[in-house]
Amino acid sequence: AHPGPVAPPAIRTTCPYCGVGCGVLARPDGLGGLAVEGDPDHPANCGRLCSKGSALGETVGLEGRLLHPMVEGRRASWDDALGRVAGDLSRIVAEHGPDAVAFYLSGQLLTEDYYVANKLMKGFVGSGNVDTNSRLCMSSSVAGHRRAFGADIVPGCYADLDEADLIVLVGSNAAWCHPILFRRMLDNRARRGAKIVVVDPRRSASADEADLFLPVAAGQDTALFCGLLVHLAESGALDADFLGGRTEGFGEALARAREIAPDPASVARATGIAEADLAAFYDLFRTREKVVTCYSQGVNQSAQGTDKVGAIVNCHLATGRIGRPGMGPLSLTGQPNAMGGREVGGLANMLAAHMNYLPAEIDRVGRFWDAPRMARREGLKAVALFDAIDRGEVRALWVMATNPAVSLPDADRVRASLAKLDLLVVSENVASNDTTSRGAHVLLPAAAWGEKDGTVTNSERRISRQRAVLPLPGEAKPDWWIVSAVAARMGFASAFPYRKAADIFREHAALTAFENGGERVLDLGGLADLGDRGYDDLAPVQWPVGADGEGTARLFAERPFQTPDGRARFVAPALPRLATETSEAYPFVLNTGRIRDQWHTMTRSGRSPRLGSHRPAPFVELHPADAARLGLGDGDLARVSTAMGSCVLETRLAEGQPPGTLFSPIHWSGETSSDGRIGALVHDHVDPFSGQPEMKASPAAITPEPMP
Ligand code: SF4
Repeated sequence: AHPGPVAPPAIRTTCPYCGVGCGVLARPDGLGGLAVEGDPDHPANCGRLCSKGSALGETVGLEGRLLHPMVEGRRASWDDALGRVAGDLSRIVAEHGPDAVAFYLSGQLLTEDYYVANKLMKGFVGSGNVDTNSRLCMSSSVAGHRRAFGADIVPGCYADLDEADLIVLVGSNAAWCHPILFRRMLDNRARRGAKIVVVDPRRSASADEADLFLPVAAGQDTALFCGLLVHLAESGALDADFLGGRTEGFGEALARAREIAPDPASVARATGIAEADLAAFYDLFRTREKVVTCYSQGVNQSAQGTDKVGAIVNCHLATGRIGRPGMGPLSLTGQPNAMGGREVGGLANMLAAHMNYLPAEIDRVGRFWDAPRMARREGLKAVALFDAIDRGEVRALWVMATNPAVSLPDADRVRASLAKLDLLVVSENVASNDTTSRGAHVLLPAAAWGEKDGTVTNSERRISRQRAVLPLPGEAKPDWWIVSAVAARMGFASAFPYRKAADIFREHAALTAFENGGERVLDLGGLADLGDRGYDDLAPVQWPVGADGEGTARLFAERPFQTPDGRARFVAPALPRLATETSEAYPFVLNTGRIRDQWHTMTRSGRSPRLGSHRPAPFVELHPADAARLGLGDGDLARVSTAMGSCVLETRLAEGQPPGTLFSPIHWSGETSSDGRIGALVHDHVDPFSGQPEMKASPAAITPEPMP
């Protein structure tokens, strides 16, 4: 038989969903889609893909795509659209100052996109107002790393999950949200007998697989880990050499831990966990040398998230279990490039290359960029940024690759705030979403996954290439190109001369090495002279990258921490409590999260029929006893209300949902109360260090809703 057309070679790229950062082999299927399989050579996944990654080929169609620039609802030329954005931004800065404009970015952007946006705002507009949806994802881990280690650094790597004797998952449903890593944990258990402990208020898919499930009461993770610290101290399990030689502040942290968790009975009361289960966990942590503690949104999305991270890291520092094979705290980031964005300063409170708003570091970045107008102070973090828009203090906002009208807490107020802007610019793949429909003045068609070229960094500091597999459709452009074109029209052409993503990557790498002198861990100096060919061929590599181009798997076993004296800092956390307690009017605690087969607001994953069949409609989970008391059955409609708003959801009765609590997924959006838009119900209380909102514990009520 005729062998048929020769298939084009598969292109190596990276999955655009979660922070695992799996390698993907993709090739056009000739029908407008892509054939996708796991890359066996990528160290994050070794050829595996989860349900979302496997369905990527079904999500690249052009239906609903934004293919041309739009100004005031009409198709426009790129020249007109860019001129409008640059002109309005320049005018608003001239009339109201640089802090009257802001960018709101996304962990979906590539590092090169992030770098250019950050450079324009912080070096040339002169404002720190660059924040990102990563603020909702892992900013408490960033703040926790900075407090403990002196910089935002994940000490370990995924290979530790293969070598650990005990893996603790805190506030992480990795079975659904980081499935390929969870598979590695299960493989370790099958091969080496590792134990898996899951700490979560609800019995998740991960908890179902655990050797020990600890159903912690909402907000009490700190009590659990303070109790562990006390136990380690009292059972002679401390690493005296590490404590004395490498750390500061243990005495104060232990004293606070004793205040919060004086004995097992008090921990059991606070956390709701049976004393026998606490004892089993503490015993495992003490006796199993190689321990990895993974934490994710259940820890981060809290008004005390930074302290929770601190309480976890304290236990690793106290036992010297950090930076060595099979041990350490490991933050699992939600998004594909949350870490890459942090590297280039994509958070309002950081400068590029992990530098801070200190005079010497502002000066250093300013000299490297030859920037005329460096921001001198931190910008507004996400929730505060939208508050400032509401007050009329920020008058222009450029949103790139995210949908804040759905995803931010108190989302109805966010919608109203967006409508007040003098200038709302949205760079997007899709022609219409909840944010574009808030009266966006300019829509800019951005390249989507499969069309973009650049890099992302996963949760273990591993930089991987995203490569274009498909041509740019319509007039779509890469985000870095769009920002550079606006910068040029604002008068900064010479500082934004980029012709391709590789030009930006080299500059970013050079900045990490600029006057570094080995001082900062984030050092990509070994990649600063990478040629175009070298960039095209770049294999996944973990920073820091030395002059020989080799990466680094683990940090801090010997290398000094990034604090001024090189010692890690223990943290004395605040007394654990929720930002708002339940009340007679709102007697339930509403938890929010992801489901296995959808991603964020479903603009990509919602295109796959296969993924849509897992959980086809928005829902609220509650315990059968609560349902019976309220006269609700499985599949009924119920109205869930908080002080922020309400929506109507289908009920799912779940024994694993603790009585007095509710759970609803974050993915659905829409205009009416029956659309399942849960962000409109979430309170906007934030962590004092990270600014991350408490999205896991809003007081709520639930009542039966008549069937339509
Ligand atoms: Fe993509 Fe994450 Fe699934 Fe890997 S685990 S295929 S990165 S969604």
